[in-house]
Amino acid sequence: MVGLGRIADHYLQGSRSSRYTRITGLVSGHRDKAEKIAALYGVPSNSIYSYENFDAIAANNAIDAVIICLPNSMHAAYTIRAARAGKHVLCEKPMCTTVAEGQAMIDACAKAGKKLMIAYRCQYEPMHLKAIKMLRDGDLGKVQTIESAFGFDIGAGEWRLNRKLAGGGPLMDVGIYCLNACRYLTGEEPADLKGDMTAAGGDPRFREVEEHLAWTMRFPSGAVASCQTSYGVFIPGYFNVRGSKGVLRMDPAFNYDGTRLSVRIEGRDPIDDANPERDPAQFPRETDHLADCIFQNRTPRTPGEEGLRDMRLMMDIYKSCGRV
Ligand code: NAD
Repeated sequence: MVGLGRIADHYLQGSRSSRYTRITGLVSGHRDKAEKIAALYGVPSNSIYSYENFDAIAANNAIDAVIICLPNSMHAAYTIRAARAGKHVLCEKPMCTTVAEGQAMIDACAKAGKKLMIAYRCQYEPMHLKAIKMLRDGDLGKVQTIESAFGFDIGAGEWRLNRKLAGGGPLMDVGIYCLNACRYLTGEEPADLKGDMTAAGGDPRFREVEEHLAWTMRFPSGAVASCQTSYGVFIPGYFNVRGSKGVLRMDPAFNYDGTRLSVRIEGRDPIDDANPERDPAQFPRETDHLADCIFQNRTPRTPGEEGLRDMRLMMDIYKSCGRV
């Protein structure tokens, strides 16, 4: 586990119910914090590393793969170092902060013969998979529009507000869920996109990153998506898909638990389905998927290339907003 912050804690707790994974090493800048977590998860103290001696994981045969839970701008360096140390990588989203870094991460893992999976947990979640299947099966007819949004009111002092560490604002952090969902719901890549962003004048939180961002995407089939993301207001994550035969809504869509799918199709019984799993169920599902891919030498469902597609699109959205 590389980085022992908030998301790492979900993986740590989730490891207790994982089929194939257990925590065998910790990487942290705070030895005392790492010692406490090591005691909870049975990690030997000689398997606690700092950011400086991280590369020594190469000699630790108990570590097959690393989970990168660091600020976005650190994902590339630690993925590349992990691959060079001969370890597979599960890297948190967003994959990195530039397209060039994303390509370098893919190249480093390919060169080392190691898997690179990006942690798009929703692509492994049963309600999302059900929605995708219904859309692929044509249950909703031809998709006409998608709306999706996700945001929260961020506290001052977060690394997420520092452009050097975060790469961008809410788009890179939570808007990415909406972007990724529009791509897996349609199964298409946007042909055209347009964005607009704002920052409330004078709010010192938004000196370096955008406060709100709204964007639209047109897909080759003709479907049009309209998305919003914010660090200034709370927007519970959801999506709405309108097709020629009906509507599909997931709300909440991007939570750690409590996802709820409702579908209304002309002439059919309504579907109201909720996933009863509780947090941290989504996390061992991701690590077990990576383990399965390692055992069977398969490519993860969300490989580095999936992360890179979102990176390119997010950079295009920023460009369309006039951000250089
Ligand atoms: P966090 O601030 O809670 O944790 C970050 C960790 O990195 C901390 O342990 C911190 O000590 C360490 N760190 C090392 N160098 C640092 C530096 N220079 N500045 C700040 N922290 C530093 O962050 P988080 O919410 O756990 O986010 C980590 C990553 O996980 C991000 O890429 C984020 O986008 C992603 N994330 C994913 C989800 C998800 O649902 N998949 C949810 C939250 C966060």
